[in-house]
Amino acid sequence: MLKALLNEARLYLDITTKGPLLIKSGYATVIGADMAPVETYRSGQKEIYLPGSSLKGVFRSHIEKVVNSIKPQVACNPLSRPNDRDTRDDRKLYRPFCGNNFSDKTPPPPHEVYTKSCPTCRLFGSTLFGSRIAVEDAYLPAGSVGKASLIEHRDGIAIDRLTGGTGGGAKFDLEAVTEGTTFTTDIHLRNFEIWQLGMLFVIIQDMEDELIRLGSGRSRGLGKVKASINEQGVTLSAARRGKNEEPDNELWGLGHWLGEEAATYDTRRNDLLKLSPSVPHTKNGVRYTRIFKDKALNSLKIESIEAFVTRMQEWTPQTTTSSSQRS
Ligand SMILES: [Zn+2]
Repeated sequence: MLKALLNEARLYLDITTKGPLLIKSGYATVIGADMAPVETYRSGQKEIYLPGSSLKGVFRSHIEKVVNSIKPQVACNPLSRPNDRDTRDDRKLYRPFCGNNFSDKTPPPPHEVYTKSCPTCRLFGSTLFGSRIAVEDAYLPAGSVGKASLIEHRDGIAIDRLTGGTGGGAKFDLEAVTEGTTFTTDIHLRNFEIWQLGMLFVIIQDMEDELIRLGSGRSRGLGKVKASINEQGVTLSAARRGKNEEPDNELWGLGHWLGEEAATYDTRRNDLLKLSPSVPHTKNGVRYTRIFKDKALNSLKIESIEAFVTRMQEWTPQTTTSSSQRS
């Protein structure tokens, strides 16, 4: 949907390990075959990175819980399938997967898919449309690549002790990224509604507060990380017809950019934030770009998180067929 680019947000997120982060686990059954950092070789040197697709998956399942704790049955369970019996204990909290709302035969127009999708599918995508958020692989800063000290070997008995698990005391080797290692990922939103920017900030805030863990053995106390927005701040761009329509004291979300078409996408014409202090645009090719840091970033976070919470509280799932005047 919406091939035209209306607005964009971009930031770098630093993710620092606050304890060992497992790279390889000897026993998938003991540790859990969750997301793990991946080892690769670049220019002959061993390098570790956190796959962006896995980070995105962790962000998504975290925010699904947040959304449904604000209002039950707003976010779907993307793992549910049409004829599923109840398989999740928390089934009452989740809607069935949005992708199940449509038959495979005739794909509905994109605005209809968007309108009938839950908030998490609207940001993270579903089987029927691509996501509005891109999360790149998280790498170590240049210069630290190949440092052996980043990796420590732990024997599995230590993990067994931690889990109270299998016993038997069989030794197996585990490799872990050491505490205090910082990975950086690049996060990008396009054509976002203000509440979607807020949704991203909630994820980041929860990572700042060390509430989201990564890698294997999360439920056993491993994979503690702390994230923060890189000092370069958050870059927001407006791009339409090469002229700047967005005032310096406002931030327009998708709904406001769409104007008369806002309702077609179940967005709102008043989808905007008043900025205080205002942040001036700089012409950058066909885009108008602004960098939010410090005070401006802080109030952007607060205001957009507020918009997110309000929108989730007001959310009513669209189940009836909407008009199809646009495709
Ligand atoms: Zn959904």
